[in-house]
Amino acid sequence: MNQIPVAVLGATGSVGQRFISLLENHPWFKVVALAASDRSVNQKYSQATRWILDSPMPDYAKDMIIVPASVEAVQAKIVFSALHSDVAKELEPQFAKAGVAVCSNASAFRQADDVPLLLPEVNANHIHLITTQRKNKNWSGCIITNPNCTSTGLTVALKALDDAFGVKKVFAVSMQALSGAGYPGVSSMDIIDNIIPNINGEEEKVELEPRKMLGKYIESLVPPSSAGYDSAAGTPPRAFIEFADIKFSAHTNRVAVLDGHTVCASVALSTPQPDLQVVSDILRNYSAPESAKNLPSSPRPVISVREEADRPQPRLDRLTGKGMSTVVGRIREDSIFDIKFVVLSHNTIRGAAGGSIYNAELLVNEGLL
Ligand code: NAP
Repeated sequence: MNQIPVAVLGATGSVGQRFISLLENHPWFKVVALAASDRSVNQKYSQATRWILDSPMPDYAKDMIIVPASVEAVQAKIVFSALHSDVAKELEPQFAKAGVAVCSNASAFRQADDVPLLLPEVNANHIHLITTQRKNKNWSGCIITNPNCTSTGLTVALKALDDAFGVKKVFAVSMQALSGAGYPGVSSMDIIDNIIPNINGEEEKVELEPRKMLGKYIESLVPPSSAGYDSAAGTPPRAFIEFADIKFSAHTNRVAVLDGHTVCASVALSTPQPDLQVVSDILRNYSAPESAKNLPSSPRPVISVREEADRPQPRLDRLTGKGMSTVVGRIREDSIFDIKFVVLSHNTIRGAAGGSIYNAELLVNEGLL
C-alpha cells in the first residue's frame, strides 16, 4: 500500500508530540507537514519544540520546518488535530471543506449531531455519520473526533458491561494526570503535595460524551428532536445518534501523576448484582467490532483485567498494550449501586494521539477517506 500523506496541527504541544512519536514508522501514514502557531512557524521542529516524552524525538521530524495551520500550507489527505478547541473551531472546517479528513482531539465538534465521536473498539459503526456530514455540509473531507481522555477508558469498560448487563447509572471520580492539561500545564507549586478538585468543563464532558458513544446509530429521514443534539445547523440529518439512556455523575480531579488517567466508578446495572467472576470474564473477553479488530493501532488486549488488590496503577500499568489498552481492576460489589471498579487509560496515547490515529485507520479501512 502507498503511504497516505498526513500532517499534525499543533505538533509542538503535549498531544502533538505523541503524534510525532506514534507516527514514526507507521505502516500506512507518512508525515509530510507539521503545523503550529506563529510562535513556531518557520523554525525547525527540533528548535521550536520543548520535547517532553521519555522516548527520543524521532529523526524524521527534527529538521522539518513548521508551517502555519492553513489549507494552503498543509498538503495532506489526513490532518491530525492537536489544537485547542477555540482554534480547532475555526480551522478544522476549512480543512474538511478542502477535502481533507480531520481526525481531531479537540472538543469543538464532538457534540455536533453529524460528527462521529469515536472509540473504534466501542462504536466503529458511528463512523458512517460522516456520509450525512458530507451531505449536510457539502464537504468532500470530514471531521471525526475522539472523546476527552477521562471518558475514554471509562466508556470502553462500560461498553462491555452494557452489552452484557445493561448500564443504568454511573458515578465516577477521576484522578487525572498532569499531561492532560498540556505543556507546561499546572504549575509545580500548585500540584506538588496537592490535589486540585476541579478541571474546567471536564465533568460535563464525562457526563455527556459516553452517552453519545454508547448510543445507537440510526438512519432516518426524520431529524432527532430530543435534548442532547445540536440540531441548530442546516438540513435534517439522515443518520444520527440516539444517546444512551444512562445517568452519569462525575467528579474530576488533577493529581501529581505525569501520564495515565485513573477513574473509580460505581455502576448500576439492569441485571442486579451479577457474579463478580462473570463481570471480570466479560471485561477480559470483550473484543472490538470486526472492522476495528485488526488495525495497526487496535488495542491488544482491548481490556486488561488486573486481579491484584492494588492495581491498576498509572506508573505500572499505563503502557499496557503499548498504551492503547484499557486496564480494569478492583472489581467488587457496591452497596449502593451494583458493582464498582477502577479503570486506567493512557491519556495522551489511547485518550488522545493514539486514539486519533486508530480513528484514521478505521476511516481508511472502511473506504471512507
Ligand atoms: P498544548 O500542549 O497546549 O499544545 C497546543 C498546540 O497548539 C501547540 O502545538 C501550539 O503551538 C498549537 N497552537 C496554538 N495556537 C495555535 C494556532 N493559532 N494555530 C496553530 N497552532 C496553534 O495542548 P495539548 O495538551 O497538546 O492539547 C491539544 C488538544 O488536544 C486540546 O484541544 C486538548 O483539549 C485535546 N486533548 C488533550 C489531551 C491530553 O491528554 N493532553 C487528551 C485529549 C484531548 P505552539 O507551540 O507554536 O504555541
